[in-house]
Amino acid sequence: MKKNIFIIGAGFGGLSAAALAAKKGYKVRVIDKNQQVGGRSQVLKKDGFTFDMGPSWYLMPDVFDRFFSYFGKQTGDYYKLKRISPNYRLFFEDGGVRDVPSDIEGIYSLFDELENNGAEKLKKFLAVSSYQYRTAIDKFLYRKYDSLLDVMDFQLIKDGIKLNIFSSIDSFVNKYFDSVKARQILEYTMVFLGASPYNTPALYSIMSHVDFDLGVWYPEGGFNAVAKGYESLAKEHGANIETGVNALKIVTDKGRVRGVETSRGFAEADIVISNADYYFTEMNLIDRESRSFDENFWNRKIMGPSAFLLYIGTDKKVETILHHNLYLAENWKEHFDTIFKQPSMPSNPSYYISATSKTDDTAPGGCENVFVLVPIASGIEDNEKIRAEYSDKIIKHMSKILKFDFESHMKVKEIFSINDFMREYNSYKGTALGLSHAFMQTALFRLPYGSKKIKGLFYTGHYTHPGIGIPMVTISSEVLVDSIEKIYG
Ligand SMILES: Cc1cc2nc3c(=O)[nH]c(=O)nc-3n(C[C@H](O)[C@H](O)[C@H](O)COP(=O)(O)OP(=O)(O)OC[C@H]3O[C@@H](n4cnc5c(N)ncnc54)[C@H](O)[C@@H]3O)c2cc1C
Repeated sequence: MKKNIFIIGAGFGGLSAAALAAKKGYKVRVIDKNQQVGGRSQVLKKDGFTFDMGPSWYLMPDVFDRFFSYFGKQTGDYYKLKRISPNYRLFFEDGGVRDVPSDIEGIYSLFDELENNGAEKLKKFLAVSSYQYRTAIDKFLYRKYDSLLDVMDFQLIKDGIKLNIFSSIDSFVNKYFDSVKARQILEYTMVFLGASPYNTPALYSIMSHVDFDLGVWYPEGGFNAVAKGYESLAKEHGANIETGVNALKIVTDKGRVRGVETSRGFAEADIVISNADYYFTEMNLIDRESRSFDENFWNRKIMGPSAFLLYIGTDKKVETILHHNLYLAENWKEHFDTIFKQPSMPSNPSYYISATSKTDDTAPGGCENVFVLVPIASGIEDNEKIRAEYSDKIIKHMSKILKFDFESHMKVKEIFSINDFMREYNSYKGTALGLSHAFMQTALFRLPYGSKKIKGLFYTGHYTHPGIGIPMVTISSEVLVDSIEKIYG
């Protein structure tokens, strides 16, 4: 008889672990405290608008393909992908507006406009970036790091040197490009990783290959359609998934998992996988003496940013934007510093605007669905006054750069920020993204899959290797379930 596995959290981490474990024959039960599955990828419906509350970029499509292929399925069996073209629009602080096209030749021309010999430089940069991506997929991402010995592997070190993983993204990009704009286009993707280009290994220039070579895709029905796809896959293989159920305590006996106390009573389990926030699980669901890490450990960790999110519905189309848009401020180092060095609300932030209603049916006819994401530090003060002032500031700024009168045309406005991340997802310090991908928080240095003190307790999701983003947490579950199978299978 296979063991029974109890999973806390139906984010992408919990759902992918459930599907994989159920396929291997484990008896799987998943609970989530919220009413919807998908974790950070919830849906907000208001006055005819449907907002994707979290993820909006379908990154690393090959990782999704590989995940579904384990089950003999394709993504298309669960959701339809649409290619977005142009990829996105950039608004620069000097008033310049540029589109990043969806074809590589067009992107080369853009770089030629941005700086001398830009296309040639980009070709060389992307050659390295795509080599890095392949190597990362083949050798770095889909594996477990248990000890220093794992990174002492000669071939891995050799590959690591080739991958330039020992310098920062910023210095790596600066070796190729001189113009601030070109550099910003190649570095903005670090925000996806909850990291600063000044403190992230150059390995992550793989994101430029993801951005330019793999294309920008949108799942019809939004990201919750992807979550529902994962949910269906898990259910088809026998997993039982319940929403609106809170995990209150992981019950142990003599250092071994016995089950989980939930808001619907006690459930026995041989194995518990927590997809809930790692810190929250350690500090709130298990006894002090059974914790793997103390407060000092957590105080030293660099957390990924939180976010100041606006969900805006307008009664008129915003003609100046595309599906994906970025505003890039000139001195963006200052913005990264307000996230990672002197935590405070950024005064001149770079930010992201998405309008899914350009591609999908997410707003009433003639209206626009506008999602705004300003990365901010986690753990800083969040209150009504700060929210009101900051949303006014951002809306005024957007009205100016987009030449659209938001004040007069706004039908819906909702704010989601630090306190909501804590309330909705039990997120440590209200981080939107979990543990940042800083140098000493990558690969071996991410948090372990298994508890150091409790046998049978495991973790999946954005705190573990390989890290942040839906593809990464999916890989996290693949590596975890394989290693559970090695122990218990
Ligand atoms: C605004 C935003 C934009 C993003 N954009 C992108 C993007 O464009 N592309 C991309 O790939 N990624 C993006 N990400 C990152 C991505 O969403 C996350 O990395 C990923 O969803 C994390 O999944 P997870 O399963 O680890 O955690 P979560 O999604 O947080 O899931 C954990 C689940 O555990 C549940 N839980 C917590 N405590 C309990 C408890 N006590 N009992 C029961 N359940 C509990 C929570 O309710 C939650 O549902 C974005 C994130 C945010 C916030």
